[in-house]
Amino acid sequence: MMNQRPHHPAPSISLVGAGPGDPELLTLRALRRIEAADVVLSDDLVDARVLALMKPGARLIPVGKRGGCVSTEQRFIHELMIREAGAGLKVVRLKGGDPFVFGRGGEEMDALRAAGITVEVVSGITAGIAAPASIGIPVTDRRHAPGVAFVTGHAREDGGAGVNPDWQALARSGLTLVIYMGLARVEQLVAALRAGGLAADTPAAAIAAAHTPQQRATICSLGTLAAQLHSERISSPAILVIGTVVNLAYVQSLDLDGAMSAQMRCA
Ligand code: SAH
Repeated sequence: MMNQRPHHPAPSISLVGAGPGDPELLTLRALRRIEAADVVLSDDLVDARVLALMKPGARLIPVGKRGGCVSTEQRFIHELMIREAGAGLKVVRLKGGDPFVFGRGGEEMDALRAAGITVEVVSGITAGIAAPASIGIPVTDRRHAPGVAFVTGHAREDGGAGVNPDWQALARSGLTLVIYMGLARVEQLVAALRAGGLAADTPAAAIAAAHTPQQRATICSLGTLAAQLHSERISSPAILVIGTVVNLAYVQSLDLDGAMSAQMRCA
């Protein structure tokens, strides 16, 4: 008789998008993976209400990388994931929004595949669509723009991989601009867009902590955006939207619990 070897499934990891906040915006597949996981490696943007869906006894490993804060080195995250999956555990790598929209999902997938680990990608609702939508902004409304550009406002100054957006070209593109990670450099971004020809009265909006109880939004113009963010103390994480689609925003909106969200229009 042949020796029966214990059966180990091939190591795999699910790279799961947690959406912008409210767990109601998870996909069914994301929910199933989170509920079944033995180990969850989570970014700090992931809402606590989503993490609460983990099964009892499952292990949460926070591996936050917030700009300006103590961060976990990317290589260490890769090694941790490879080790946990190699031990035969059900591992979920949980990221805010969509795993492939900023946030290094692609780099993590590459590292895992190189280590022989099968990667499943579970798409999530990205903040760049859901945050504007929460105040009624349809980012590609055809009456206003032929499309949308998702860009990072976080400059590459470390010589690492990636390029900075060509703000002047974006200013001329006619696209709705949806800027992630843009708060820290908003003055420079506005100046570059103005230099590219965007008028000071181009409508602009900022939506912070969208789909969480802390959501705040402001609607103004490119010329007043930086001052408005400051005076209303809009803080990260926030999405900036620039373009005439912002004119479609509700001045005030009711969320499903009937609470007024704090929104102001510039005088
Ligand atoms: N993968 C994420 C983006 C990661 S980059 C996604 O698809 O949404 C981090 C940036 O996303 C933040 O700086 C902020 O610009 C934006 N962001 C993430 N969650 C947000 C939220 N709930 N409200 C507003 N902006 C958010």
